[in-house]
Order: sequence, then C-alpha cells, then structure tokens
Amino acid sequence: MDNTKKIFLTLGLIVLLPAIFYSVYEISSLDETETMLGELYGRQLDAVLFSVNQHVLDVSSGWATQIENNIANGAFDRILSDNPSITGIIIADTSLNTVALHPRAIPVPRDWARRYEVTFGQLIRYRALKYRKLEPVIDTDSTLLILFAPSSSPTLVAGIMVRTDRFVAEVIGRKLSDIARNDLVLNIASASTGATLYSTHPRTAFEFSQERPLWILPDHVVKVRMLGSTVEEEARARYRENMTLIVALNIVLLTGAVMAYRLIKREMELVAMRTDFVSNVSHELRTPLALIRMFAETLEMKRVKTEAKRQEYYSIILHETERLTRLINNILNFSRMESRTRRYSFAPMDLNALIGSILTVYSYRLETLGFTVETSLAPELPQITADEEAVAEALHNLIDNAIKYSGERKFLRITTSLSGNTMRISVQDHGVGIPKEHHSKVFEKFYRVSQGLVHTAKGSGLGLAIVHHIVDAHHGTITVNSEPGHGSTFTITLPLTIPQQQLS
Ligand code: ADP
Repeated sequence: MDNTKKIFLTLGLIVLLPAIFYSVYEISSLDETETMLGELYGRQLDAVLFSVNQHVLDVSSGWATQIENNIANGAFDRILSDNPSITGIIIADTSLNTVALHPRAIPVPRDWARRYEVTFGQLIRYRALKYRKLEPVIDTDSTLLILFAPSSSPTLVAGIMVRTDRFVAEVIGRKLSDIARNDLVLNIASASTGATLYSTHPRTAFEFSQERPLWILPDHVVKVRMLGSTVEEEARARYRENMTLIVALNIVLLTGAVMAYRLIKREMELVAMRTDFVSNVSHELRTPLALIRMFAETLEMKRVKTEAKRQEYYSIILHETERLTRLINNILNFSRMESRTRRYSFAPMDLNALIGSILTVYSYRLETLGFTVETSLAPELPQITADEEAVAEALHNLIDNAIKYSGERKFLRITTSLSGNTMRISVQDHGVGIPKEHHSKVFEKFYRVSQGLVHTAKGSGLGLAIVHHIVDAHHGTITVNSEPGHGSTFTITLPLTIPQQQLS
C-alpha cells in the first residue's frame, strides 16, 4: 500500500470512524427516546381511559338500576327529566316484543328484534349467572343504545336510548375536562371518519400522540396529547438540532480530514522533491567540476598544441565556472529566501542596458549552440526602480531555462515593452514547452516537470522559484504561456516605481 493510501486510512480511522460511531449512537438513542415517549403516552392514556370508562359505567349502571327499580310501575318520567341525554326507554320480553315504550311516542329502533337478538341472548346468559352486563351499541348516527337484561325482572330486557352528542358532552366530556385540566388535550373522535365529537380544548386540529377505543361508544376513540409544546415535540426539535449538528460536525471533520490529507500529501511530495533536489544538485555540481578538472589537467600537461584549442579550453573552463557560480548563487539565494533574510536594494536602473549586457555574456554560448537570438526592446524605456542584481539573476534563470529546454529548435527572443505604469519583459523560446497542468506548479520550489519524458535536462528545480520570489519582492508578476512542442514564453511585469513604504 502506498503512503497516500496509508495517510487516508489513518485519517479515516482517527477522525471519521469516531464521527460515524457518534452519529450512529445519537440516531439510535433518539429512536429509543421516541419509543420511551410512546410508552409514556400509552400509560397516560390507559389511565385516562380507565377513569373515563369507570365513570361512564357508573353513570349508565345508575340509569340501569333506576330503570330496574321502576320497571314494575313504569315510572320513568323522573329518569328522563333528570338525564337530558336519555331520549327513551324500551322494555321488551325475551322474544324482543315491546312491552313498554317511554315516552310512548318514541319509535322502536328500526329492525330492533333482528339486530339485537344475539346481543340480548348473551345478556340473558349473563343474567342467569347473576351478572348484569351493559352493552352499548350505536343504533343510528345520533343514537346510542345501552342494552341490558334487568335482574329484577327475569322475563324482560331493556334498552336505554341515548342522544350521543349530549351524552358525549355532558357525561364523557365533563369527565375528560376534569382529567385534562391544563395539562392535556383529550379528544373523542369517530374512528372511521376521524371527525371530532368532543375536545377538551377549543382547538381541535392537534397532532395527537396516541389513541384508544372507547368502551361506551363503539367505533369511537379517545386521543391524547400534552398541552403546549409536548415532550414529543421537544424531542423532535432536539432530534432536528442534533441531526443538524451531526451533519455540520461531519462536514467539518470531513473538510478537516481532506485538508489534512492535502497538507500531508503536499509535504510528502516536497520531501520527495527535496530528495530529487539533492541528487540533481550533486549532478549539476559534479558535471562542471569534472569538465573544469579535465580541461585544466590537459592544459597543465601542455598537451594542447594550438593556441586556438587552448583558448577554447580556457573558455570552456570559464563557462563551467560561471555555471557553477550561478548554481551555488542560486542555492545560497534560495536559502536566504527560505530564511527570509534576502535583502533587496532598490535603485533606478536601465532595463534595456541590463538585457544588452546579459546577452553579451551569453553571446559566445548562444552562438556555439547555434541559437537564433532576437531582441525587441522598447525604445526610450524610462528607468525603473529595482534591484539590478536581482533582476539580472531572474533574467539569467529564464535565459538558462530557454537554453536548457530548447530541444531541437534553438531560438531565443527577449522583448521589453511599456504599458501604462508597468514594464513587461518576455523571454521566449521554441523549445520543448510545458504542459498546461504544470504551469502553476513550475514556480514552486523543487518542482520539475518530469512527466512523459518532456525533457531529460538536469536542474535543481529552484530557478523559477527564485524568479518568482524576486518578482514578488518588486511587486510585479510572472506568467507563463507554453505548449508542449511549441516553446514557452515567460513574461515578467514590473512596476516602474515602487512606493517607498513597499520597499523591503
Ligand atoms: P530547473 O532547475 O529544473 O530548470 P526551474 O525552477 O528553473 O528548475 O524550472 C522548473 C521546471 O520548469 C523545469 O524543471 C522545467 O521542467 C520547466 N521549465 C522551466 N523553464 C522552461 C522552458 N523554458 N521550457 C520548458 N520547460 C521549462
């Protein structure tokens, strides 16, 4: 496994895994809270229901007892006037033939004998076991029938006709309001249509936590929720908050991990480049040294016959010494740049003149290598404020590169021009060129384009980093325009003058 993958895995393990574990834990614990709340509401509603059922059972049993007590004399008036929700009382024999109807005008429930035959059959069996059971049935939308077999009259059965809305409001509702007080909202609603029959709160459109069927009103339910912001809503809000936090935390961690990964990767690339640098520089030092030594020895042994040859050897020695000096200067300047101790001394200078003298120094070499050299220098350039030595160093590096990466087509053009308050200097070659993806990186320290065998020339990877630093110190810019196989143009722009306070 390569190092990059290792870093990625390590970062993943130390940063992301705990985040994922925490997220999963949080989400599952929220689930637990929901379940717990569900149970809590369930128990609460069971208690409410028990109390309501007990109450309506007490009330309806009271009615049944009163009817039983008066079944012989038929004096039901009092019961009806005391309980406005009772609309009628039916007494029938065990074959369900009506024996008495109170009030007399009230119609017998439709199809009564056939519909309630089975229910009464059960009630009569209960009576035989000495148990008076009440059986509520919804007769019509507005009428509830409470059927029972009175124990005092073994040959009769009875039905209490009740107006559902009144019964709900006066009997069940009152009890619900007592229970609900200011803490709960309790609703009675139809289980099939969802329509609310009664609510302890004027607002009915609540979201309810739980519901249970109501014994006295078949096909109806009691619903419950807390008044105000419920524990459930609080939990949901907390859930949303936690989820947002978890997502944000994960994003931050992920961004951190990606950034850390990039930094580490960059550092590792730098380490690798530094290692290359050492071997490149050793090579760069060794080559001119070997040449100098070889030619100096040949000269010392007086083996060279002609003066012309001797001159050629001298100039080779001189050239290689210059190369060595430049390389060592580059390294020294680079180390000053790195330790931020490099100082520039700005003074007015003539750029065209500087280029002229640099080209004179290079002329022999360029000529020997077969270069076509073109210059296009803007006439009457004003002087610029710059560190002449540093500008010369930058141009040396650019020209060195143009020569080094010239490939087959030996061409060099140096252009100066003036645009507004800035001076432009271009160094152009027709050499191997630089693929686009490397354009921004070539100015980084130690960076060398080694991909795809673009070139085999040796170098330290410091030249353009130094040029960049120098240009920066002059508040200028450097850009590259290059295409593989079509050569490169490096363009420096320098301000004509640098404000005093910006001079470093
Ligand atoms: P080096 O010592 O490698 O020349 P530089 O910092 O001067 O270091 O250049 C960085 C890299 O940019 C070089 O290794 C080379 O790949 C590329 N480069 C620079 N100048 C040129 C050029 N004129 N033509 C083609 N490639 C160039």
